[in-house]
Amino acid sequence: MKILIATGNAHKFRELTQILPSVTQQGTPLKYVSLADFPDISMPPETGSTLEDNAELKATYAAQATGLITLSDDTGLEVDALHGAPGVHTARYAGEHADTSDNNRKLLLALEGKPLDKRTARFRTVACLVTPRGNVQTFEGVLEGHIGFGYRGENGFGYDPIFIVESGKKTLAELTEIQKNKISHRGKAFKQLAKHLEHLSVK
Ligand code: IMP
Repeated sequence: MKILIATGNAHKFRELTQILPSVTQQGTPLKYVSLADFPDISMPPETGSTLEDNAELKATYAAQATGLITLSDDTGLEVDALHGAPGVHTARYAGEHADTSDNNRKLLLALEGKPLDKRTARFRTVACLVTPRGNVQTFEGVLEGHIGFGYRGENGFGYDPIFIVESGKKTLAELTEIQKNKISHRGKAFKQLAKHLEHLSVK
């Protein structure tokens, strides 16, 4: 059975295929494809006011366009000193055409001069599972931590080099993909979703 992960982000796709099951409990093999396999689909803008809205919008659109069971996620970084910002605007924090380094730089600047205990933050992911018939299920995962004072580590993507994991002194970018998946916001959300995929049955 083919399952679409509605992302064009190759890092995220790889992370998720390591978490998700390769076979259902009935023994049906699950094959994951990404939006890279559907170059003709142009995804709608993420106009929702919550992570749930955006995750559902992406998965519903892609499921209808492809006829496949579709998974999506939307992630926000909530910084307490910034009253929960960038939150739902995390991808576009430094502007519509900003890239990862613009976003990270803007966040470090916004927290300049703040001590570690004023730099608490969390990643929140909402994962969504949609069938082509429009059945929707959502799952949430949270990872608590701090925004660091600079960049550390080479792994991962996005804000990983400046996000210090609460339980240790490392940034997410200093963890291996397997270590990150064990504790991450996306890992937690998709582990719940994975249980539902395991129980999918082919009629
Ligand atoms: P999206 O919802 O996955 O598109 O992510 C929204 C924003 O959060 C993007 O700027 C991503 O780079 C960032 N982001 C999402 N997940 C992670 C993560 O696991 N680590 C660091 N940044 C992330």
